[in-house]
Amino acid sequence: MKTKPFESTRTCLRQSVYLGACTVLLLALAGCTSLPWTAAESDNPLPPSKRSLASFAEPENQQACFDRENEPYTTVVDAHFHPKPFGGPAMSPPELFDYFGEMGVRFVTYMGIGQLLDMGSGCVYYLDCPGVAARPSVKNDFLNGMEVEMYSHDDLHITLSMTFMDLADPDSIVDTIAMYDKEYPGMFTWAGEVNVVKQALMGNHHQAVTTKNIDDWAPFMEILRERNIPITLHSDLGNNADPTKYLYLMEHVLHQYPDNPIVWAHMGLSKELSTMSPEQHVAIMSRLLDDYPNLMLDISWDVLYNSYHQWGGTFVPFFNEYSTRILAGSDFVAAGYKEYQQYAKELEITSRALRFLDNEAFRNIALGENYFRLLDLDYTAPTVCPDSGPATVAQSD
Ligand SMILES: [Zn+2]
Repeated sequence: MKTKPFESTRTCLRQSVYLGACTVLLLALAGCTSLPWTAAESDNPLPPSKRSLASFAEPENQQACFDRENEPYTTVVDAHFHPKPFGGPAMSPPELFDYFGEMGVRFVTYMGIGQLLDMGSGCVYYLDCPGVAARPSVKNDFLNGMEVEMYSHDDLHITLSMTFMDLADPDSIVDTIAMYDKEYPGMFTWAGEVNVVKQALMGNHHQAVTTKNIDDWAPFMEILRERNIPITLHSDLGNNADPTKYLYLMEHVLHQYPDNPIVWAHMGLSKELSTMSPEQHVAIMSRLLDDYPNLMLDISWDVLYNSYHQWGGTFVPFFNEYSTRILAGSDFVAAGYKEYQQYAKELEITSRALRFLDNEAFRNIALGENYFRLLDLDYTAPTVCPDSGPATVAQSD
């Protein structure tokens, strides 16, 4: 039974934030470690969002400055969101739009999901159905394109993304883009999330792409480059046994396509890579960001925060240093069976690091400036009020 979306949304959010904070506190007590980006939410529920979509269309100096003490630290841009699940029904568009509104999310990238489980299987989540194929498809993109046209959403900017691409079989991608151009002219301005290598999906007939496959992407990557369309790539860095096992694949992509705007989903981290040294990870990311100016990192997915929450002291300075190169997002999958407060919870968890960023990084990442620049949108992030600043990062024991 679903919770009705808004009769108690804020109550639900506060409860979920409170429960999250309690869990963190118990973990902290159990492990005697400090948790730098999870401090003290229990007595500090998210304040209501004060800003409309239209406010971001005003020049920077005509927007009210952003008060970090009294406005939510959750991102106004969800640059990694899946409005349709791997199988089964999805949340309805109007309820989803209302929910973004309630959370203060004014910009969202709609990413399929592209990889659909065999429709005859009855499966809704790939990890519950090993052996059932999950294959790239146009189906959800087309549904999303229809719904964005049919349902009004005046206070929400939606970026539609092409997620049909099978990167291991790229020959037909150019023709399919042409079909999108015919059916949805000018509407799809992002690509991905598509999979270079996703170990979690290997039980569902997914295989890592080869370097030869990557070389064969050239025709469609040229189209994306000409149109300034970013592509979000899921490319696992490795796993706990071999943390850089697949690094060569992303390096090959970046070497072959240095002029394409490429977004590396989850910074290459995953459930399979939960124990990598944060210093080693940050060193690899820094090197690639320095070498490839069109690379950006996506820090979506609550899995990252569950595995690496104690390493805020390493990641927060990295996010501050490379703040023009980072996008925030939830990686939420809007399956119809989920309760609405799950989105609030996942958005809150994936935004916790943001509250510790310096003001410039917060504006770039949480308030949307990077997103607007990447897509050349006519929106501007507000500046942060001068007397407002980040939460204090707790010291590790
Ligand atoms: Zn995703």
